[in-house]
Amino acid sequence: MSAVSHPAQTPSARNAVKNAAGDTFATAINCIDGRVQICVIEKIRSRFAVQYVDVITEPGADGILAFGPPEVIEAIRRKAALSVERHRSRVVAIAAHHDCLGNPGSKAEHLECLKRAVERIVGWNLKVRVVGLWVNERWCAEIVSDTEQ
Ligand SMILES: [Zn+2]
Repeated sequence: MSAVSHPAQTPSARNAVKNAAGDTFATAINCIDGRVQICVIEKIRSRFAVQYVDVITEPGADGILAFGPPEVIEAIRRKAALSVERHRSRVVAIAAHHDCLGNPGSKAEHLECLKRAVERIVGWNLKVRVVGLWVNERWCAEIVSDTEQ
């Protein structure tokens, strides 16, 4: 099947598009912090009904996408594009979290970074749903923004 022959998809069905092997993927851009891996993956799997989550990590990823440096942003963009194009991910999430070493700051500062990071990802024109996640002090991931809500 060529890349141009996919039928138009409804917004709900677009969340979980099977790739060539029949698997469904989403994409997470997350901090390297071990405390925020499983909760982010599980939130995305349950909310968007995908089997797998491709994970791109960078210390303080929300701050990187908000403010740079540009070469790191570009590296993240390439990895996200690979996940979208080859695994047919239709959701790209960016996560920020409490007690982040890579991007220290208040929750309000992280939410501002998330807003800018979401705008950055939307600007990549991957034609995906873009979701912002906040991982709170109990290490629970909350959806704070969603381009389809
Ligand atoms: Zn962190």
